[in-house]
Amino acid sequence: MENKEKEFWFVTGSQFLYGPEALAEVEKDAREIVDKMNDTQSLPYPIVFKLVATTAENITEIMKEVNYHDEVAGVITWMHTFSPAKNWIRGTQLLTKPLLHLATQFLNHIPYDTIDFDYMNVNQSAHGDREYAFINARLKKNNKVIFGHWDDQETQEEIAQWMDVAVAYNESFKIKVVTFADKMRNVAVTDGDKIEAQIKFGWTVDYWGVADLVEYVNAVDTSEVDQLYIDLQEKYDYVKGNNSAEKFEYHVKYQLCEYLGIKKFMDDKGYSAFTTNFEDLGGLEQLPGLAAQLLMADGYGFAGEGDWKTAALLRLFKVLSHNQKTVFMEDYTLDLRRGHEAILGSHMLEVDPSIASDRPRVEVHPLDIGGKEDPARLVFTGLEGNGVDITMADYGDEFKLMSYDIEGNKPESETPFLPVAKQLWTPKMGLKAGAEAWLKLGGGHHTVLSFAVTSGQIADLSKLFGLTYIDIK
Ligand code: MN
Repeated sequence: MENKEKEFWFVTGSQFLYGPEALAEVEKDAREIVDKMNDTQSLPYPIVFKLVATTAENITEIMKEVNYHDEVAGVITWMHTFSPAKNWIRGTQLLTKPLLHLATQFLNHIPYDTIDFDYMNVNQSAHGDREYAFINARLKKNNKVIFGHWDDQETQEEIAQWMDVAVAYNESFKIKVVTFADKMRNVAVTDGDKIEAQIKFGWTVDYWGVADLVEYVNAVDTSEVDQLYIDLQEKYDYVKGNNSAEKFEYHVKYQLCEYLGIKKFMDDKGYSAFTTNFEDLGGLEQLPGLAAQLLMADGYGFAGEGDWKTAALLRLFKVLSHNQKTVFMEDYTLDLRRGHEAILGSHMLEVDPSIASDRPRVEVHPLDIGGKEDPARLVFTGLEGNGVDITMADYGDEFKLMSYDIEGNKPESETPFLPVAKQLWTPKMGLKAGAEAWLKLGGGHHTVLSFAVTSGQIADLSKLFGLTYIDIK
């Protein structure tokens, strides 16, 4: 994940009428807000104070600078005083990055004993915010508004969440998905309009033949594989099972070759997400299982069966969540008994170990589809707690994103004959209501399951894209 260098610019709104002394005080207050918010360590990215904006010219200029600087993920504006909003029209129109209107006031109280007209001259957020908010609404800017004192913990938490959305939005336009082979034959929901996805979300989706990948896998340095085979045992248990020691080691090492080969392929060509398809493995000896799991743990997007939309979506939400507890998932099988209602989620082999609640085991077992060698995979149990399950589909006239809140639970029992990683969950609204709503909307079986992202963040992100989002409740 290479987004550590991002920053947000802080622009304070005012005007010339107040005179240089007042503007100096406004700047001093604004700098204090920025410095103190940075000092709290509650924000994932730094805020950089830029200026007290007083004219249409300097507002337009700063917004052009924001667009130009790749390290700037968005703008935070604050109206310390009254800032006539016609001055903001051109700059706001030109701004192509996320905008947060922080509706706050320097003091968190009314200083009854000392308040006078001098104070009122430089503390006009109450009505300055409304003048400024009007023009953003008129311009249909879809900006975020956060109201509250800047030093309040809840306000800062909301800013932190918005920052993660803003960075993800910026990153979206850099997402490049490589599909090794095409999609699984005849499947509908995972297909869609790649050109429209690139126009709307910035996703580049490229096909590469499996033969191109095989060259990379076969060229992996065996000493690197041998070292990784040793190192991985610090994090995972190797469980040989019924395999001979030689077969186990060979099959695990082959997955490590795939891991290093796919990684080098993607890094060389600038891809941040990928798909595979068990129907077309060409010269690969195994379906990438452990390989895909390790790549997802590293932060790459992935989905099975050529599902490029979910692969891109996973990369997007991994950026948003700082790669915490956010994984590719599939609705696998159901528990319909009253009082036990749940979905058991998994994918044949490719579940990201960032949701493991126990120590993952590396195991080698046959796979009944694909007709290749027995693939090595990580086997583990998922998390308990609150999360969200997200999917995207293309309806021909538009993409729609949907999600419902879920509660994760541990499976009630082991599955000795289904050696895959597993996550059990139930929609918060109940399995019946949740599943019926999902099915009526035509939501797919491939999802991004996250214990870190909130539906509020998904809503904010969707607004930035102009994307229809349905928060199923
Ligand atoms: Mn699948």
